[in-house]
Amino acid sequence: MSITSQLEVLRKRIDKASTQAGRSPASVTLLAVSKTFGADAVIEAVQAGQRAFGENYVQEGVEKILALRAWSQAQDPSLAKEGGASPTLQWHCIGPLQSNKTRPVAEHFDWVHSVDRLKIAQRLSEQRPAHLPPLQVCLQVNIDGGPNKAGVAPAQALALAQAVAVLPRLVLRGLMTIPEPAPDFETALAVHRRTRALFETLQASQPWPAPLDTLSMGMSADLEAAVAGGSTLVRVGTAIFGGR
Ligand SMILES: *Cc1c(COP(=O)(O)O)cnc(C)c1O
Repeated sequence: MSITSQLEVLRKRIDKASTQAGRSPASVTLLAVSKTFGADAVIEAVQAGQRAFGENYVQEGVEKILALRAWSQAQDPSLAKEGGASPTLQWHCIGPLQSNKTRPVAEHFDWVHSVDRLKIAQRLSEQRPAHLPPLQVCLQVNIDGGPNKAGVAPAQALALAQAVAVLPRLVLRGLMTIPEPAPDFETALAVHRRTRALFETLQASQPWPAPLDTLSMGMSADLEAAVAGGSTLVRVGTAIFGGR
């Protein structure tokens, strides 16, 4: 199936999952995870109406951001103005971040979902260029305690959120999780509900400088359970672009 048809199928899946959960389909953003696929695949998705893209690998992501900016400008020279990683597209860094790789992320991406320690957040804030809007960030939470997994422990999430929220060039927007693959819907849903409970605890804990409105959870295999559990943003690669 073409990327265009896969996107249509996926939007129907999201609509159905939202409706079944008693939610508006508009309350769930689709992030197309284009890692390992080239700029051509992203262009096809853009032509099908997709605007938000997720990348895991910094260098690969930056190359695509630049390629897509050149492509957009060739399509419409009026888009060649300053500001934003791209005038029309939104780029989300969702992969693990090392502190020596933060600069290109701060310089090119619009969002980062994988902030799991203060040092990374401080570097991103310091390195965010003054002419760009602040970087939108989610804290990655290790919700199911996988020992080798990135992510702040749930018990440390509030302290990290408080420290990140006051950094001048970042805007804290919410949480992100990558749970272990679950054998069935109910198991997946239970984990997603735990993440939502943590998210709601954070939301209610204090007034935040910007609304915490983003709960980034759910991928190709578990997006229905994630939407039922309260996800506001699903990150989908395989079901759009095919296997990697
Ligand atoms: C690859 C990846 C995805 C997409 O996974 P699929 O199973 O291909 O939909 C989502 N989130 C993160 C953090 C990823 O690395």
